[in-house]
Amino acid sequence: MSDVRNVIIIGSGPAGYTAALYTARASLKPLVFEGAVTAGGALMNTTEVENFPGFQDGIMGPELMDSMRAQAERFGAELIPDDVVSVDLSGEIKTVTDTAGTVHQAKAIIVATGSQHRKLGLPNEDALSGRGVSWCATCDGFFFKDQDIAVIGGGDTAMEEATFLSRFAKSVTIVHRRDTLRASKAMQDRALADPKIKFIWDSEVAEIHGDQKLSGLTLRNVKTGETSPLPVTGLFIAIGHDPRTELFKSQLDLDVEGYLKVDAPSTRTNLTGVFAAGDVVDHTYRQAITAAGTGCSAALDAERFLAALA
Ligand code: FAD
Repeated sequence: MSDVRNVIIIGSGPAGYTAALYTARASLKPLVFEGAVTAGGALMNTTEVENFPGFQDGIMGPELMDSMRAQAERFGAELIPDDVVSVDLSGEIKTVTDTAGTVHQAKAIIVATGSQHRKLGLPNEDALSGRGVSWCATCDGFFFKDQDIAVIGGGDTAMEEATFLSRFAKSVTIVHRRDTLRASKAMQDRALADPKIKFIWDSEVAEIHGDQKLSGLTLRNVKTGETSPLPVTGLFIAIGHDPRTELFKSQLDLDVEGYLKVDAPSTRTNLTGVFAAGDVVDHTYRQAITAAGTGCSAALDAERFLAALA
């Protein structure tokens, strides 16, 4: 069992590293679990990030995250590239256990474990991420001006992404596995009325083509089994996200979609001394800057909580 820390941060995306930077600069000597294989978070899997303020020419995702990491480290954050495999958050002293079975103790915990976008599970999907394949229209739509784009999904997110993309794109094709949409009526109506958007029903993506860049899709009709080509240079996958909340399920309150609940605008969870930030809480904005912003809030909330204990 380790000494009792002030604060342990679980997660190393923009939320976790920003919380680390702030708590380190407040001399709280945070311990950060970065994750075993995904240290740096979601932006490690992308190419150019053009909407993080401060980088007028854009910055590559991994470079941005390396820089956030180094900034937190410079002020004394201790970073461990390992997963937390269990937590006990109920008492005054919280514990988190790493993959070696070592138990770490802290008075405050910041959860910043992010969320995982659902994938189609096809070869080439990861290889072409940031090269035509995307999960975020707000992030990447601008790169697809005057191009033909496919959006996969039938819910609100898919309709919203398609409607947003139609501002830039030459055409947007929504590909949906069923012949009816799950999206709310208002979102459906907007997409159906958009002259740039067309629908392909009862169909799924069978293959993603391209070498260095996406060059097209093969679709399969789920009723007839027939395949057909869809020549697009953009593929937006909008079939949902899974917040990484498995570890916390029996201890922290979750909303109906499985995201951690906080007492907004604070980052306090239902348990005293436990704070949450970033995409593990947020299913509305899901941006690097909003994750960094709530990471800052969580650090300040934790600082104030610890100061009140002293
Ligand atoms: P994440 O970045 O997801 O980080 C969570 C971290 O928690 C991960 O490092 C993971 O390893 C760690 N973790 C999880 N569980 C554990 C555990 N048990 N133990 C230890 N560590 C754990 N946003 C933009 O603003 N602009 C863009 O251009 C942009 N492009 C994107 C491109 C792609 C391909 C994707 C997927 C997302 C993009 N986004 C973009 C969205 C942005 O990346 C996210 O909103 C942001 O990264 C969320 O930050 P986060 O800190 O909440 O979580």
